[in-house]
Amino acid sequence: MVHPASSGWSLGAGVRTTRLFVTIAELEADRLDLRGSNYRHLVKVLRVEVGSKALLLDNTGRAREATVVAVSSNEVTLENNGYVELDTEPKVDVTILQSIGRGDRFDEVLQHCTEAGATRFVPLVSRRSMVDIPPERVPDRVERWRKIVRGAAEQSMRTRLPEVTGPMPLDIALQQEVRGEFLILHTVGSRKAIGDVEVTNGGSVTLAVGPEGGWSGDEVELAIEAGATPVTLGPRVLRTETAALVAVTQILFQLDRRR
Ligand code: SAM
Repeated sequence: MVHPASSGWSLGAGVRTTRLFVTIAELEADRLDLRGSNYRHLVKVLRVEVGSKALLLDNTGRAREATVVAVSSNEVTLENNGYVELDTEPKVDVTILQSIGRGDRFDEVLQHCTEAGATRFVPLVSRRSMVDIPPERVPDRVERWRKIVRGAAEQSMRTRLPEVTGPMPLDIALQQEVRGEFLILHTVGSRKAIGDVEVTNGGSVTLAVGPEGGWSGDEVELAIEAGATPVTLGPRVLRTETAALVAVTQILFQLDRRR
């Protein structure tokens, strides 16, 4: 079960702080009145009160501390304090081309891979996806996906929101969405171990993850023609959402060791 709005956290020594993405203008203001969804999120979900601390993020990499100074029935007022240096963004851009399937598997990929450090998500309708999103429902679905990413980014103290594109077929994604070193996760045939793939720090990686029924043979061929290297995560067959998380973690573990 995914909880998109869970951004409360503990800032050491029992101090409880909330993280929230706001606009650039809101971050730069001295005082901030929030209504609507940000109000509901802070007051109804996270139950902030006068004196609560918040960490505001503007999706450009900047973060600023703030203190709640008033709460009314439809508005919460914060006083913005000093800017904070946060170094939580990965040094490598990881795009995930993720086949969407039934249930909330894709939601889990968004949540967990945002926490792990992925930077872009491209929902794929692949041959065995077993899911059909009617065109009129796509905007709502994408908005919901972006909310999940935002909640996970706030929770994990990301300073930039990972992007979520609209859903698309594999051939379009291959033409438009691949960045840097391109790896297709595959469970059969000749493959390289993901840990042996060489990616330069500061670069980009694109991971393609198949649906529960796996890739069809021609999808894998198409990806290889587009420059993909087939890779394995080991001898065990992982669920699609587990495979995405393990792959992101492996890539960033190799390339993102700073602390
Ligand atoms: N029976 C399917 C097959 O033959 O590929 C299993 C698909 S698996 C549940 C879903 C997706 O996760 C796969 O298409 C692949 O992209 C990825 N995956 C799962 N385990 C993997 C592994 N050990 N190595 C590489 N990719 C894996």
